[in-house]
Amino acid sequence: MNETKILLTEKEIPTHWYNIQADMPNPLKPPLNPVTKKPAAPDELGAIFPQEIIKQEMSTERFIEIPEEVRKLYALWRPSPVYRAHRLEKALDTPAKIYFKYEGVSPAGSHKLNTAIPQAYYNKKQGIKRLTTETGAGQWGTALSMACKFFGLECTVYMVKISYNQKPYRRSMMQLFGAEVFASPSDKTHAGREVLKKDPDSNGSLGIAISEAVEDAAKNSDTNYALGSVLNHVVLHQTVIGLEAKKQMEKAGYYPDVVIACSGGGSNFSGLAMPFVQDKIKEGKKTRIVAAEPAACPSLTKGKFTYDYGDTAHLTPMMMMYTLGSDFMPPGIHAGGLRYHGSSPIQSQLLHDGLIEAVAYEQPDVFEAAVLFAQNEGIVPAPESSHAIKAAIDEAIKAREAGESRTILFCLSGHGYFDMTAYDIYLSGKLQNSSLPDDIINKALEKLS
Ligand SMILES: *Cc1c(COP(=O)(O)O)cnc(C)c1O
Repeated sequence: MNETKILLTEKEIPTHWYNIQADMPNPLKPPLNPVTKKPAAPDELGAIFPQEIIKQEMSTERFIEIPEEVRKLYALWRPSPVYRAHRLEKALDTPAKIYFKYEGVSPAGSHKLNTAIPQAYYNKKQGIKRLTTETGAGQWGTALSMACKFFGLECTVYMVKISYNQKPYRRSMMQLFGAEVFASPSDKTHAGREVLKKDPDSNGSLGIAISEAVEDAAKNSDTNYALGSVLNHVVLHQTVIGLEAKKQMEKAGYYPDVVIACSGGGSNFSGLAMPFVQDKIKEGKKTRIVAAEPAACPSLTKGKFTYDYGDTAHLTPMMMMYTLGSDFMPPGIHAGGLRYHGSSPIQSQLLHDGLIEAVAYEQPDVFEAAVLFAQNEGIVPAPESSHAIKAAIDEAIKAREAGESRTILFCLSGHGYFDMTAYDIYLSGKLQNSSLPDDIINKALEKLS
């Protein structure tokens, strides 16, 4: 069958999230206390996370039930559509079939609401009054502000200063949903003040903003912290993407040969990929599963698989992951959501075990792919998601050159309607190349023990 849209009904919203920790050939290494460097006990996380989230973080149960209240809110936009990119296929003159799962239909504009809603729900259930978080490009802050408003929680967002100034409409959107937004580094926290003392003009980074949000939550007993990527419970929540997509591909009548998503912290990638990784592990399927990252922040393709901190001030537990080092400062590329120094421990372990692979792309190539996609499919993609588009196009071209058909499925994690400044820069020919010389990366890696 060759439909353009493959849709599911509201009744087909998954009832359970899929937990890959039940099926991984090599289990995850435990998080370490940042001071003692001993495995962190679950209750050490209790200062910033609710019990149910901590339980999910450590769980090896294969399927975890999605609460009814969460499924009801998911129904605002889920199940999200899978599209066949017929026109893009034609433009590329490829025998490959290109499908994409579109998460930009969420009212927050990206996949991030899939985890913001359950995180707000579990915190509300535990009697928490306020959530703190960081945001880079503003996608996560927007999703969490919305979810907090739905559940009657207050929300404080530390927004990386360069984005705070460059993306005023993202800030307005968070404020519209009732959040309090500070440019980070701010003078509200010790971590922020320390950075400002050394560098009053600091543009900020995700690592610094995380330090501020974690400190704020740890200091206030009615306040918790919420993270939009990286951690196991976030990956778990995002598996609704892959569970739906697998059903949709069954309906379409094709099992994907290649599954692709962009990767910052690894949550939309893992969300789409994990149900397909399960088939590789359990049924010996040969699917290639590819994470696409920016050459400007190449944690998976050039980073080191080691224990590292999640933030600049070293307040978070250390995690075993592919990382460029917790004080690595990536160049200011337009895919702000992909500027994290580390990556999800689950994704990292699977990469280490050879079950998934990774590629890195230069900024101008990513925008060229984004424009070709937009001109054929009519959706303006987020610069982050466009890394996946670039990878899908490369696969389709390879299929043409090899003269063989293959089925490609990628995640279009969000729309780019708040990113028009970046498109302006690209269209006026002023977009910078963004890769990093190896000696800068090697210097950053040397700091990791
Ligand atoms: C945040 C974001 C990403 C990157 O985060 P992951 O955790 O790697 O998924 C990708 N795409 C969009 C649209 C985002 O908002």
